[in-house]
Amino acid sequence: MWKCDECGSNNPGQFYTFQYGNKVGSKREASYKRVTVRVAGNKSVYLCSKCIGKYRRHQSIKGGIIVGISVVLLVFAQSFNTSVGSEIWDFIAFAGFIGSLWAGVYYWQAFTGDTYALGISRAIAKHKPDLIKQGYDYFVWDKKK
Ligand SMILES: [Zn+2]
Repeated sequence: MWKCDECGSNNPGQFYTFQYGNKVGSKREASYKRVTVRVAGNKSVYLCSKCIGKYRRHQSIKGGIIVGISVVLLVFAQSFNTSVGSEIWDFIAFAGFIGSLWAGVYYWQAFTGDTYALGISRAIAKHKPDLIKQGYDYFVWDKKK
């Protein structure tokens, strides 16, 4: 029985594996950049479905709050815009609009995104500080599972 890396329980879950190493160099070729990475090892992190669900909710709420703030800002700027009509309110309205669009996409991805991508990002976020301390600066993983 595997133990969850996050809560230490025996809840069902799965392994999320990523590789860590160092960027050795990058070379610009015609239309893309080729990055050379020296892989030092890989890390498998077991996370239970409960913790992934919690992480998904947490990310979704964060996105939802940003959308909320952006919409309030947008409405606020619009109501001021008609009476004052200065460029700064136009700018704030525009920033609010872009902000809510961006946050909306982020929110939607966290809300509906596939569990594997979510688990990988959680696993890397959890172990990144330690690995950086050990001198590694590059993290890669397989997109599909
Ligand atoms: Zn857990």
